Amino acid sequence: MKILVFTEHDNGNLKKSSKEVISYAKDLATPGNLHVVAVTINNNNINSADFGNCGADTVISLKGDNLNTFSTEAYSIALAQTIIDENASYILFSNTYTGKSISSRIAVKIKAGMISGVVSLPENGVFKRAAFSNKAYSFVKLNSEKKVITLTPNSYEIKNFGGNASVTEKTINVDSTQIHTKTLNISKVEGKIPLTEAELVVSGGRGMKGPENWHLIEEFASTIGAATACSKPVADMDWRPHAEHVGQTGLTIKANLYIAIGISGAIQHLAGVSSSKVICVINKDPEAPFFKAADYGIVGDAFEILPKLIERAKQLKN
Ligand SMILES: Cc1cc2nc3c(=O)[nH]c(=O)nc-3n(C[C@H](O)[C@H](O)[C@H](O)COP(=O)(O)OP(=O)(O)OC[C@H]3O[C@@H](n4cnc5c(N)ncnc54)[C@H](O)[C@@H]3O)c2cc1C
Repeated sequence: MKILVFTEHDNGNLKKSSKEVISYAKDLATPGNLHVVAVTINNNNINSADFGNCGADTVISLKGDNLNTFSTEAYSIALAQTIIDENASYILFSNTYTGKSISSRIAVKIKAGMISGVVSLPENGVFKRAAFSNKAYSFVKLNSEKKVITLTPNSYEIKNFGGNASVTEKTINVDSTQIHTKTLNISKVEGKIPLTEAELVVSGGRGMKGPENWHLIEEFASTIGAATACSKPVADMDWRPHAEHVGQTGLTIKANLYIAIGISGAIQHLAGVSSSKVICVINKDPEAPFFKAADYGIVGDAFEILPKLIERAKQLKN
């Protein structure tokens, strides 16, 4: 029996969320001695040790017509064929935008039961998943023969199993007539730490007053090597790109340190950040709800505090 893991990469670099899901697959596989097969698509730069270290036994490198650029439809077709060929019983994804878009299609194609957003290994076949914006958990068991599972990013530790996975090349040509949507353009944010992969995050809210003040957030973040994030209204007002919006309707992150500046701490914001290990809040209102969720709090004006923090961080860096 096999566990098949769909992995994502950036020019061959395996994403952190994919390493997590491979390690999860390995631990899921161990009691039943299952084989962990990682699938990578359109990857010309495979690092087999990277796959092996986090738990893959083998890697299938998929290539073929219409797999040269990301397409949910083409990738789903090629992946579904691979699942059938490999006779995999579990099919795992990270619960990223890409993972979400493919996993649901796969579940339909192979007639599998599906659980999205699991946060830990199952106990007696029962999977735990977050519900109601992390306010509750639901416990779900699948009765289907094949099971599609998506793992919440940052909920499982990447392990080092010290393995070296063997790589098999596979060609699946997807017919153009099967593809109904086409990606015309991909614009990537270059040179920044991706939010979902970041250990440190500096985040700003409406208390920053306007986009013209964001240089303070950016300077502080770059001094300490952090990614930048923001609250929903900030993205809605176009002060910052939507890719930085965290919370119930944005990205869910689990940083080692989340620094929230001028953010009130509404429940919808907390839903995306409250799993961070350490939370530090800077707010001029001592009654701001965010302080209740904080490990450290600074009550004061961000425009007085941030320059001091930047100066001190630079001193420490030097
Ligand atoms: C269905 C739904 C989904 C939502 N999803 C999200 C989501 O995903 N993410 C999200 O963030 N929100 C979300 N929201 C919105 C959420 O309810 C809040 O309205 C939003 O988080 C508030 O953003 P904010 O804290 O930046 O702004 P405000 O609530 O306006 O808070 C600004 C804070 O800055 C402080 N401040 C002001 N000036 C300063 C200063 N000079 N120095 C220091 N502090 C200062 C104020 O005391 C205040 O606490 C959602 C709402 C709904 C209804």
